[in-house]
Amino acid sequence: MARADTLARAKELDRPELAYLVRFPAADGMKDMELTWAELARDTNWVTERLRGHGLAAGQRALLTTSGFEGFWGHTVIGALRALRVPYGIAEAMGWDHRRTAVFHRELDPDVVIGLSAETLEGLAGSADIGEMFRSASVVLARPAAVPLLRGAGVSACLMSAVGPALALECPERCGAHVNAAEWRVGERDGQLVIAAGEVRRSRLAETPLGIAGRVETGRCACGSEDPRVLLAQAGATSSSRS
Ligand SMILES: [Zn+2]
Repeated sequence: MARADTLARAKELDRPELAYLVRFPAADGMKDMELTWAELARDTNWVTERLRGHGLAAGQRALLTTSGFEGFWGHTVIGALRALRVPYGIAEAMGWDHRRTAVFHRELDPDVVIGLSAETLEGLAGSADIGEMFRSASVVLARPAAVPLLRGAGVSACLMSAVGPALALECPERCGAHVNAAEWRVGERDGQLVIAAGEVRRSRLAETPLGIAGRVETGRCACGSEDPRVLLAQAGATSSSRS
């Protein structure tokens, strides 16, 4: 059968609603949640608007570091970059793949760097000055442990973090990472973050302690968003120790 015929037949098949099973660490062990294609599409739209808020636009180039098991948010970032017509290269976020990050950085000269991990930075630091590498990017969204390393090297990094099954993305105001209030209820109990699924999520998730030290700011952000902001204790503690 010709390939075109195969694709035409495949298009007629029922598509299961389920896109991913998301496994995430909570205070009392690993939890699983279903993630549908419809939810993934809504999450992608939200990430697109957040990245647009950072000034991402056609003609820029992006470097994304992510691991395969992070598809529940990696897929949304890739979808957002495509929607914004920003070409991207992807390297693995684990430390052993830092050379691929270096190669993409050299070849792409990215305007936008998303998902940097402390492990990648530690690998790169053996042969490069991470400040010099990333200061020229107009947007750097990095993981919690990477943010203080970057800020210490003079890079205006913004925080991105998985908050259980949700993604938190800091805006240019850099006063906490926004979580999509239309999909999630994020809060704090005794200095720890908790999350629950909003009513629109197919998979139910009652309020779940995440074992992540932090607090939540509500109210309108200077960026104009009403989405609550997560401030992690770790990132806050280290940002004041910059030299
Ligand atoms: Zn904001």
